Amino acid sequence: MLLVIYLYWTRSILITLKRIQITVLVDKMSQDEPMTIATLGSHSALQILKGAKDEGFGTLLICEENRHSLYKRFRFIDEILTISHYDELLDSRCKQRLDNTKSIIIPHGTMIAYFTYRDIENISVPIFGNRKIFQWESDRNLKQKLMNASQLITPKLIQRKEDIDKLCIVKLHGAAGGRGYFLAWNKESFEENATSLLNQRRIRSEDDLFIQEYVIGVPTYLQFFYSPLNRQIEFLGADIRYESDIDSIGRIPAKQQLSISLQPSYNVIGNLPLVLRESLLEGVYVMGERFVKASEELVPPGMIGPFCLEGVYDKEGIFTTFEFSARIVAGTNLYINGSPYSELIYDEPMSMGRRIAHEIRIAKEKGFLNQVFT
Ligand code: AMP
Repeated sequence: MLLVIYLYWTRSILITLKRIQITVLVDKMSQDEPMTIATLGSHSALQILKGAKDEGFGTLLICEENRHSLYKRFRFIDEILTISHYDELLDSRCKQRLDNTKSIIIPHGTMIAYFTYRDIENISVPIFGNRKIFQWESDRNLKQKLMNASQLITPKLIQRKEDIDKLCIVKLHGAAGGRGYFLAWNKESFEENATSLLNQRRIRSEDDLFIQEYVIGVPTYLQFFYSPLNRQIEFLGADIRYESDIDSIGRIPAKQQLSISLQPSYNVIGNLPLVLRESLLEGVYVMGERFVKASEELVPPGMIGPFCLEGVYDKEGIFTTFEFSARIVAGTNLYINGSPYSELIYDEPMSMGRRIAHEIRIAKEKGFLNQVFT
């Protein structure tokens, strides 16, 4: 017992020290000194760095060797630091280059998928956003707690495979991008697919799976930005994911669907734009604001910057939220030149990537960098 208290206490002290260290580092980034925006080469890196350049920042991309040839095609990337694996982001060579270029990191889905929340909490370079909230994104129980505190309608959770009595979607933990998800309608269909994932070593036990009621309607991703500087929420876009194989199954006539034993996956291949009925917009803002308020209470300092509420609109226009992302989502890549919603707020093309850089620029000019970095 004493050992547990000691370990907990030591960890809390280390986290506090890290926080002080980051605050000092951010304070040192004076108003006139140039600053670099850095990110990992994947997910929404092009959008983030293009936006950073448009707002006048230097840009640094940290990418794996096999992606270098892609990223070197883009002139808005000032420097590419090549690594052999993402893990090297945590090494001293990367840290030194990030320090020397006065860089800050913009996190995205690949960072959340590859690193543990502890790794992210421990990175000793300033991160845009609230680094503590990534644990709430990765851990399904915390995620549910935050969605409940935000008073969002969420799908029913099924705790035991024996209780599956209607169509359910079974998910893996973490930001897997829909890979390996499957549908189950009873215990047997659950076990059949779980066994296949076990055989492929995608999961260690059935406990690694998470069962949710399947909600019928239009799967929709709502893209928000919250500015801690002006304490306002902006709804900047919506999208639909196009997923393999589930979205292509409708191209095969029913007779052939039945003749092949296909268990479709939900692997995201790309995103399609979506404009919502105007009558749904008020509800969108209310959900976003509740989420911001709940995150302020549960994970101080709360939401900073981009986030996404992910769910399904049913035939009554009611939104059931099945997930959230507490950082930029790849669906925003659709709107590099601005979206129908950003057009209503800004007089210039404002992608989510640029909106992040814009916030950093304003915070820098006003001396409030510590409000947007942790
Ligand atoms: P996710 O990776 O959790 O965003 O989900 C991947 C895909 O699974 C989504 O685009 C939806 O098509 C589908 N999905 C996830 N959860 C549900 C749900 N509870 N009901 C219906 N579809 C879902």
